[in-house]
Amino acid sequence: MLGYISTINCRSTFIARYFGEDAPEDCGICDQCLRSKQPKLNSDQFAFIYKTVIERTHQQSIPVASLFDHFPEIHSGQLRKVIDFIQAEGRLGVDGEGNVRVDG
Ligand SMILES: [Zn+2]
Repeated sequence: MLGYISTINCRSTFIARYFGEDAPEDCGICDQCLRSKQPKLNSDQFAFIYKTVIERTHQQSIPVASLFDHFPEIHSGQLRKVIDFIQAEGRLGVDGEGNVRVDG
């Protein structure tokens, strides 16, 4: 069942196929279905969010929730993706109270 974990398609259809169903429909509610529904982030949007997050958090801690308020038009999953990216770069830190901050 390792494929279940690594599948990039609907998890429900994976199981249905495993049990012999020919053309199962996507469930629409598993994490993979939700991910595929999320609008793609283009490079301009990415650059804009990236820049704004850095500006807002540069050498000042702000609650991560308030970051989301800055981007009412952006899907929260997309913002999270950019935040994850900055965190992976090692620039963004999160403290125990859920405040984010960029140093350097
Ligand atoms: Zn699904």
